[in-house]
Amino acid sequence: MAEETQQLAPMPEDWQRALAVVAHPDDLEYGCAGAIAQWTDAGKEVVYLLATRGEAGIDTLEPDKCGPLREQEQLASAAAVGVQTVEFLDHKDGVIEYGTALRRDIAAAIRRHRPELVITLNHHESFGGRFLNTPDHRAVGQAAIDAVGDAGNRWIFPELGEQGLAPWGGVKWIAIAGSDTPTHAIAAEPGFERAVASLLEHRAYIEALTDEDPEAYARGIITMTSSFVGDRFGGKPAIGFHVYER
Ligand SMILES: [Zn+2]
Repeated sequence: MAEETQQLAPMPEDWQRALAVVAHPDDLEYGCAGAIAQWTDAGKEVVYLLATRGEAGIDTLEPDKCGPLREQEQLASAAAVGVQTVEFLDHKDGVIEYGTALRRDIAAAIRRHRPELVITLNHHESFGGRFLNTPDHRAVGQAAIDAVGDAGNRWIFPELGEQGLAPWGGVKWIAIAGSDTPTHAIAAEPGFERAVASLLEHRAYIEALTDEDPEAYARGIITMTSSFVGDRFGGKPAIGFHVYER
């Protein structure tokens, strides 16, 4: 119990570049984007790397129509929190395989962007022991964690070096959003409205998901995800991360 009531540490701020690695359009917008808004405000550079275009995410829309639509929604969503660079790896939505191909693709992006902070999403079996996680989130979260080591080792994926991507061992922290075991947090309030706006950019996705008014839905989700760790961060809404220091 002591661990669950312990106050969370503030997120590290002494960095300049972050790379956020997730499976799908919208993964960063269900809670994490409010933190990203504050970091870009402070002049930090954040790049998004998505394993898929989320083409299997809308039941009523064929993947070849859905992928480009969700790509556009993701670009608008990123822009709403000050992120200008969004890259897609084009793994297949719903059936992303954890393995060396995925690790290599993420390691290449880490070498290209040379982040000090890598952000990803909960890679465990569930959220809070109640909501099952998806195979894609598990695969991408674990691969992102592993690719941090791969990116720094010249003998793992030597073909990346041959392509001119020098090893990068400068990642100091890996921050896992949506974790059941947060260690750090950042106040949600300063980024709250932009977090809502960012999620709301996934309008086609939200409209297919729920009959609720999209803005009311987005506001409700961000309010909820900002409430999970507040009692461990000075009693105010906050965004929690499990941070591994390297
Ligand atoms: Zn997802």
